[in-house]
Amino acid sequence: MSVRLRIGGPLIAGMGPCFMCQRGYIQVVACGELTRNGGPGHEATEIPLYVCGACEGKLTLLLADALRSPVRPYVAAGLPH
Ligand SMILES: [Zn+2]
Repeated sequence: MSVRLRIGGPLIAGMGPCFMCQRGYIQVVACGELTRNGGPGHEATEIPLYVCGACEGKLTLLLADALRSPVRPYVAAGLPH
């Protein structure tokens, strides 16, 4: 199972639950997908993920921090992530 997040792209807005803060029926934007590969007994799945404006802001800050920081030690060490 993997989660792929996109921020700042073309945003599809709607009403629904936020997957990060678990708030209920609020204004949200599409921010990525949750995917699971197929295998014995289950089919591959891909579902869209939605976040509220506050959580989108948190993700944007995370991204800004990551871009500003030097390469993280575990990445530089070549460990799998
Ligand atoms: Zn939220």
